[in-house]
Amino acid sequence: MEWRETDGVRWLEATLGPAAGGAGRVGFGSRVGGVSDAPYDTLNIGVLTDDADAAVVENRARLAAAVGIEPRNVPIGLQVHGAEIAVHEGPQEPSPFAAPGPALEEVDGHVVRGPGLAPLVLTADCLPVALAGPGGVAMLHCGWRGLAAGIVERGALAVGARAAAIGPGIGPCCYEVGPEVLAAFAGLGDGIAEGRMLDLPEVARRLLVRAGVAGVESSGLCTFCEPGLFFSHRRDRGRTGRMGNLAWIEA
Ligand SMILES: [Zn+2]
Repeated sequence: MEWRETDGVRWLEATLGPAAGGAGRVGFGSRVGGVSDAPYDTLNIGVLTDDADAAVVENRARLAAAVGIEPRNVPIGLQVHGAEIAVHEGPQEPSPFAAPGPALEEVDGHVVRGPGLAPLVLTADCLPVALAGPGGVAMLHCGWRGLAAGIVERGALAVGARAAAIGPGIGPCCYEVGPEVLAAFAGLGDGIAEGRMLDLPEVARRLLVRAGVAGVESSGLCTFCEPGLFFSHRRDRGRTGRMGNLAWIEA
């Protein structure tokens, strides 16, 4: 995983390994390189904030251009912390990413089976997780509820995942949770929490390994700890932007 920058837009990019029709790749976005004003400064990709729509649309165009994708080829969904996954055979028409407005399907994960489309999930503490295998690539939005509901297993099954990358999210340094959250992952064994501080990236890693994904890379970056790089819903008490995270297949 390495930092990349184009025209001021910064993101973390990783190669996931072979996928249907090429190599799976993922770009984990930062907050750097957009046009939004505080508290959405600057590369806010989420339209369900109080940010100006025009700024979000410009930010989306910048992020897509940075990774070399047309905005209309970026499928998105309405994230509901569930485990549903949409499989995309072609672009969404009309494109809710390029021109926000159309109703969105309630899904937290996306699969594409060949080059051309780059599905995106929004995050601001939750983990973006990308997977690749012979069946394509998957891009998942993983908060604790989605992880507990089995989104990682579903994503791994959908693409026959052999490799995965876990992007920036809230780290064990900053993620205090209640007993119901700790209980949801009690079956994963020791080492996923210290007291009430949950290690969500480690939870995701163990779930990926349990789903048969051999190669798992993790950014190791905490969104809460890095205000200059990332939005953090918890740190900013809800008034913040969203990072965009995309996966695609390079032919
Ligand atoms: Zn932290």
